[in-house]
Amino acid sequence: MTTQDKAAAHVAVNGRDYRWPAAPTVVICLDGSEPGYIEGAIDRGLAPNLDRMMRTGANLAALSAIPSFTNPNNISIITGAPPKVHGIAGNYFLDPESGEEVMMNEARFMRADTIMKAFCDAGARVAVVTAKDKLRALLAKGLDLASGRAIAFSAEKADQATLAGNGIANALDVAGMPLPDVYSAALSEFVFAAGLAIAESFRPELMYLSTTDYVQHKAAPGSAVANAFYAMVDHYVGALDRLGCVVALTADHGMNDKHLANGEPDVIYLQDEFDRLVGAGAARVILPITDPYVAHHGALGSFATVYLPADADRVHVIDALRRLPGVDEAMDRAEACARFDLPADRIGDVVVLSGRHKVLGTTRAKHDLSGLTEPLRSHGGLFEQRVPMILNRRVALPADAALRNFDVFHVALNLVS
Ligand SMILES: [Zn+2]
Repeated sequence: MTTQDKAAAHVAVNGRDYRWPAAPTVVICLDGSEPGYIEGAIDRGLAPNLDRMMRTGANLAALSAIPSFTNPNNISIITGAPPKVHGIAGNYFLDPESGEEVMMNEARFMRADTIMKAFCDAGARVAVVTAKDKLRALLAKGLDLASGRAIAFSAEKADQATLAGNGIANALDVAGMPLPDVYSAALSEFVFAAGLAIAESFRPELMYLSTTDYVQHKAAPGSAVANAFYAMVDHYVGALDRLGCVVALTADHGMNDKHLANGEPDVIYLQDEFDRLVGAGAARVILPITDPYVAHHGALGSFATVYLPADADRVHVIDALRRLPGVDEAMDRAEACARFDLPADRIGDVVVLSGRHKVLGTTRAKHDLSGLTEPLRSHGGLFEQRVPMILNRRVALPADAALRNFDVFHVALNLVS
């Protein structure tokens, strides 16, 4: 395409139209970036670039998709659409075709194309770098990695990246860092280091960087550990800004303390409750936060969906759930799908959301809490839905505009001045 053609070009995907990037555009999903983390680092003078962006660019708030978990939100962001469109309603679900509980991290579970694929197919150079490998296959869905115009790999498995499978070889050399531990702040730093190097050398027109919430699960806003992490983020955001990129930063979900005063997780064990309500083992509790990275959260989050036996009295069950201390909301499938734009075939008969400081479990014995070295912080419900949206350019929107985090590509491509 000529420069003139590109300037006039739009790319349509999932019912939305996106302008061709006027400048290289980088969308960053800062995993678990509850409002307050960035401000905490700014207060200590550790994030001058983010501070400047928020004052002279755009400092907006957005709501995540529900459940406020990593996979549904990353896929909402990269498709520009809610879970009912792309089908990824959790990290984990009950596959109705097999009756098995499985990870929802394979591209075959995704029902929509990504914005990255649409731009790559239209001739753009694109790059995706994610911290955890659980997201790579979903984020890279449909990308023509043999085209020479697409890169997609994870920091977790950067040592295994190949030209044929990821559009990049020697990813460790590109990032200039050793392979990080999957449970580390360095896993996110690797994403930024690789992203900056790719921005300088490969010059993608569109790039998506997605970090991990290892730090946010362990450390509250304003803490020394969190501030050090955001100082690192600020360094790379500043470098991308100096390269002339449009930088848009949002989060997949927020994060809250979910523990008792003694430091133990504050859990409602739902399988025990359902055993009492509808009979032992009759209901099947699914926790869509479940993933291979249990040290982050012990599979304890604030959203659960439950399959009931056919003869269960749903009205009675929902009524009983609503009266449980710590339950924020309980509703049937139809109401949950209507309110949260969820795919009905991947949601149980009942949806339960817990309060700001509560999490939902199955039974105590099923949760491996050995990896929880700090009092639990987690997410999944309505109290972790509010996230920042920050750009280094002004946008044609009022500060109180009603935004979803999955509007971020629309804002970065269509609304920047
Ligand atoms: Zn996350």
